[in-house]
Amino acid sequence: MKKNHWLFFLLWLPSLAIAGPSAAKTDQTAPFAAPAPISYVLSMPQPQTHYFEIEMRVSAPTALTDQAGNGYIDIKMPVWTPGSYLIREYAKNVEGFRAQAGDRMVRSEKIRKNTWRVYTKEESLVIQYRVYAYELTVRTSFLDQSHGYLNGASLFMYVDPLRNQPHRLTVQPFKDWKKISTALPAVAGQANTYEASDYDVLVDSPMEIGNHEVLTFTAAGVPHTVAMYGEKIYNSTRLAEDMKRVCETAATVIGEHPCKEYTFIVHQTPTGGGGLEHQNSTTLQVTRDAFITARAYQNFLSLVAHEYFHLWNVKRIRPKALGPFDYENENYTHLLWVAEGITSFYQNYILRRAGFTTADEYLRNFAYEISGIENLPGTQVQSVAEASWDAWIKYYRPNENSVNSTVSYYSKGSVLGGLLNLSILQSTGGRNNLDDVLRLLYDTYYKKLKRGFTDEEFQQAVEKVAGRKMDDFFQKYVFGTEKIDYNGFLNPVGLRMVDASAGKQDPYLGAITKLTEGKLIVSAVRRDSPAWNEGINVNDEILAVGGLRAGADLEKQLATYKPGDSVEFTVNRGGYIKNLTVKLTGNPLAAFRIEPVSSPTPEQRALYARWLYLKTT
Ligand SMILES: [Zn+2]
Repeated sequence: MKKNHWLFFLLWLPSLAIAGPSAAKTDQTAPFAAPAPISYVLSMPQPQTHYFEIEMRVSAPTALTDQAGNGYIDIKMPVWTPGSYLIREYAKNVEGFRAQAGDRMVRSEKIRKNTWRVYTKEESLVIQYRVYAYELTVRTSFLDQSHGYLNGASLFMYVDPLRNQPHRLTVQPFKDWKKISTALPAVAGQANTYEASDYDVLVDSPMEIGNHEVLTFTAAGVPHTVAMYGEKIYNSTRLAEDMKRVCETAATVIGEHPCKEYTFIVHQTPTGGGGLEHQNSTTLQVTRDAFITARAYQNFLSLVAHEYFHLWNVKRIRPKALGPFDYENENYTHLLWVAEGITSFYQNYILRRAGFTTADEYLRNFAYEISGIENLPGTQVQSVAEASWDAWIKYYRPNENSVNSTVSYYSKGSVLGGLLNLSILQSTGGRNNLDDVLRLLYDTYYKKLKRGFTDEEFQQAVEKVAGRKMDDFFQKYVFGTEKIDYNGFLNPVGLRMVDASAGKQDPYLGAITKLTEGKLIVSAVRRDSPAWNEGINVNDEILAVGGLRAGADLEKQLATYKPGDSVEFTVNRGGYIKNLTVKLTGNPLAAFRIEPVSSPTPEQRALYARWLYLKTT
């Protein structure tokens, strides 16, 4: 998953743009001849109302008996969607639940926020309900006059004892909508009907319905489809070629492509931002500038690389807690820094290896990511293992103090992935790198043992590939918050890190502000900064600085002072005017740059070339 988040402004992560309609067709035939125990018919007769209508047929002997001797079946709605670690309460959009057996209505009642109990001993039931779908994100469903998008977990109810059985879906598209794009295999001879081998596969297969453009290409021997929803402002040929190159390079990491076919759904939206991974597909959201400016296009390809790489890392190479899923509760793991952080590392590494970025650009990104995490006070407070565990209540529920209390498992995980890669290269003389760790995990846990791995098993895989113990690394940097010795990792490839801002005498306040309706409002106060120490508060409106009316650009106003100056700030705090005297300090924020050591040895040069996939002369 990738999402728009306040941290994106503080830590480097690509911003995205663009979208257009598209559909993907599958010519794969579902292997299941017998009728599925659960089948759904999804219709959308009035898309302007944003309601999907769902008829769910349950045909299997699943009824249980309660204490009063009544037979019942519980019908449930997921509360979250895999890949996005927040309880979203999808049942909040459900209306009109009713149950029928034969031609009789059957009594039902809601017994939990997401559970309907249907009282019946019948083996065959028809459930009807409708779902309001008007939030176009990668983790929700959406319907309007222009298209429909399905995220299965937000639409399809399930019956626990039947989750592992085949589920069938028939779609009745609105009027003249001609295209359906999904990774689900189609049922031969039945229009717009798809079959999933189990419920997990059903909800792990998003679907785009409408009249979108469909691009196709083959990468690593696998047919790929791209459904493009939105304005047609991209060059289809170039887009397909570039995406193909990203996919082919990503496939070299593990060296085996496990998909029969793969589907991209790309939504162009006004705000854009983010993607969600699935086993054989992904949904990406971008703003229109992704197809207009070179920088935004590179960020788009970076998003493609990220979500695509997830088909291996997290959908198959996965922490134990992430599958099979509990759809009713939080699923806890310390390893989101591996699932998301190492995927973020690979999105950059893949673009370098595919030649979309230069070695210098890779180094600039790496240094920028490092500056981002090192400049966040939260880096000293929360480890990436804790950040992973608490994603449900912290990363996905940020507040004004997040800058001081949390670290992003994406950003720090990406940096740690980069450091592990360097460490393995160094300890094996360039023979192995992080690819070998992922390949080992893929072969051992996905293919052989068919399960996820534990914290310990991840570390063991790293140690096996590196050929040495790595306790220090994991204790200090993964489960701890110790300061990282970057030069220790960079020196073997002939590089060192320097702080370009060292020695500068910029004045520093430590209050982050935003302009709201013409008012300069404090949105965060950085821990241990002058603003923090002197009690400037979040939500204070800064009225004046040193007796002068505060302008829109506080930085510019502060630039007239120097470190050590005491400055009077006049603030409006809930209607009361207050004056606070703050002694400014020098700016402690680093601007790291990675540069060559003065005279690199031939060994350092060779390892550098191996690291960044450069041709040696
Ligand atoms: Zn991700």
